Amino acid sequence: MTVTVADRSLLGVVGSSLRVPLVTGGESRYVNLDQAASAPALTAVAEHVAELLPLYASVHRGAGYASQVSTSVYESARGIVGGFVNARENDVVVFTRNTTEALGLLASAVPGETVLLDIEHHANLLPWQRGSGRIVLSADTVAETLERLDAELAARPAALVTVTGASNVTGETLPLRAIATIAHRRGARLAVDGAQLVPHRRVDLLRDGIDYLAFSGHKIYAPFGAGVLVGRKDWLDVAPPLLQGGGAVAEVTLHGATWHPAPARHEAGSPNVVGVAALARAVSEIGRLDADAWADHDRALRTRLITGLEALPGVHPHRIFSDSADAVGVVSFSIDGTDARLVAAYLSAEHGIGVRDGRFCAHPLLAKLGIDGPALRASFGVGSTEADVDALLGALTLFLTSGP
Ligand code: PLP
Repeated sequence: MTVTVADRSLLGVVGSSLRVPLVTGGESRYVNLDQAASAPALTAVAEHVAELLPLYASVHRGAGYASQVSTSVYESARGIVGGFVNARENDVVVFTRNTTEALGLLASAVPGETVLLDIEHHANLLPWQRGSGRIVLSADTVAETLERLDAELAARPAALVTVTGASNVTGETLPLRAIATIAHRRGARLAVDGAQLVPHRRVDLLRDGIDYLAFSGHKIYAPFGAGVLVGRKDWLDVAPPLLQGGGAVAEVTLHGATWHPAPARHEAGSPNVVGVAALARAVSEIGRLDADAWADHDRALRTRLITGLEALPGVHPHRIFSDSADAVGVVSFSIDGTDARLVAAYLSAEHGIGVRDGRFCAHPLLAKLGIDGPALRASFGVGSTEADVDALLGALTLFLTSGP
């Protein structure tokens, strides 16, 4: 018998007993099904932040006790994050604001052309459009998409292949080890936009052959403001500094500067010590989860939702590929003849359920899927339960039978 744990939270999160006002005058438990946008902080993260608040200070150059503690917390976070994703010994962890900034930094560091797919979030599309990106159109299957990727690299070499680890629209994952093998055989490195994958599955740079990984703290149960680019040091050591200012330079004259190597080179200015500490605590907590139990919890919620949605008349969950081997707890769907914005507003106002409506910062992908207007998206985290899924399915059933 398969035991699933989707009927309970895997870890404590703040706000799980939050109640919200309803338009009908009453109130309801808040059902947060928008965790792909930002996930609520883990309880352990909130406690850690509270401990640090009396102590945070400027890092690296202060001699006082608070500066020493902050420097130690900030620098040890690199090792914690590197360990969490099984980075190689000489990889570097650069702290950024978020995934968007991390991918923008990588785009400025690539010494050559980059190949990407047409299913990306704008954060992993726009920086390459500005630079030297080449897009491979994906097929209906992962298998054929990989063949196209290989053919593109064989026809014209590239320095980097960049792909999403999990789609922020459909949750589908890509076979990263297989893509790394293709990229490496053709002389390219592999970067992964891990914004949606890292909060749902164990990612292992060494095992999967990932050369660069970007992700955001606010999607992995820490508050806003800290993100990560982790990966091979050589390109980042010589790339133009992300920002120019104190901390990134070894020596400055009135006419120029000698820049530090990475990571300091890309972390000019006073860094977000509390945000980085929160991110590190979040990944420490997530890192203690059993990888299979974590993935099972996520898959069970996804399957329950998709099965329920498919049973509702006129409701269509979206898919990119017919053969993706795994998908995370991010599910978008459309309802025939219904404006997604209206449904999202109804779910919130009448049932206290938070979902996403819109085009999910993935306009080319939605166009490819034939979705003209906004769609709906429900997404889970470690604090989500079957009761959350059932609340959504129940509210949608009411909407479809009686209207808003
Ligand atoms: N990549 C993917 C797949 C995402 O889902 C997101 C955010 O939703 C991003 C990148 C950008 O993340 P951030 O807004 O934290 O920079």
